[in-house]
Amino acid sequence: MAPPSDSRPIVISGPSGVGKGTLYNLLFTRHPDTFTSSVSHTTRGPREGEKHGEHYHFTTMEDFEQLISKDAFIEHAKFGGNRYGTSKQTVADQTAKGRVVVLDIEMEGVKQIQEQRARGSSLDARYVFIAPPSVEVLEKRLRGRGTEKEESVQKRLAQALVEIEYSKTPGVHDKIIVNDDLEKAYKELEDFIYQPAPAATKA
Ligand code: ADP
Ligand code: 5GP
Repeated sequence: MAPPSDSRPIVISGPSGVGKGTLYNLLFTRHPDTFTSSVSHTTRGPREGEKHGEHYHFTTMEDFEQLISKDAFIEHAKFGGNRYGTSKQTVADQTAKGRVVVLDIEMEGVKQIQEQRARGSSLDARYVFIAPPSVEVLEKRLRGRGTEKEESVQKRLAQALVEIEYSKTPGVHDKIIVNDDLEKAYKELEDFIYQPAPAATKA
């Protein structure tokens, strides 16, 4: 399959546990050599199976703050008691691979990138929000994943309500996908990503 004609980075956001990672893993598996993930920095510890430099750049709070003071981030935010950020270097490195860059970031990061964009700088991206069928289903998935302690589950669920509310703001997202049936949601994501580029953004 030819690569997407609209090669702008894709920003995927949505509440923790909704299935963002599952969906973009499918995208990467089914379209090898087409996409690349923007590897964020985080102060949280690695989960089982997560690799430094692949899933995240795992970093200390001190190092993270030093990167902020050097203006190294395109955006950064606090989430669930930890810090997360997208470094300028990471996006430059990933873009240089000639693939479509996929960013998985939370709401504050989305806001920051869009505000910079409104001022004429930063990423020209496409924004997808992944919504849960219901908050009850989201809680089940988050708990079912088995990666979070109770305190973290509570923080993530509280933040989920804020993110879902924010997703209703007109004009923030180009596409909202309800991840109920996985294959159906995946198809919607793929169709959106592969839809023809608007004339002004064609390479
Ligand atoms: P996120 O990256 O948004 O935090 P994950 O991709 O880790 O979420 O998904 C959270 C859990 O929900 C995982 O255990 C995953 O297997 C499961 N999951 C994802 N999508 C679906 C779906 N459509 N139906 C049922 N379970 C799902
Ligand atoms: P997790 O700890 O589950 O990997 O991620 C928690 C949340 O942080 C998710 O909503 C994810 O999208 C978000 N996140 C991951 N990396 C970044 C980042 O670089 N910037 C921002 N703003 N959020 C991020």
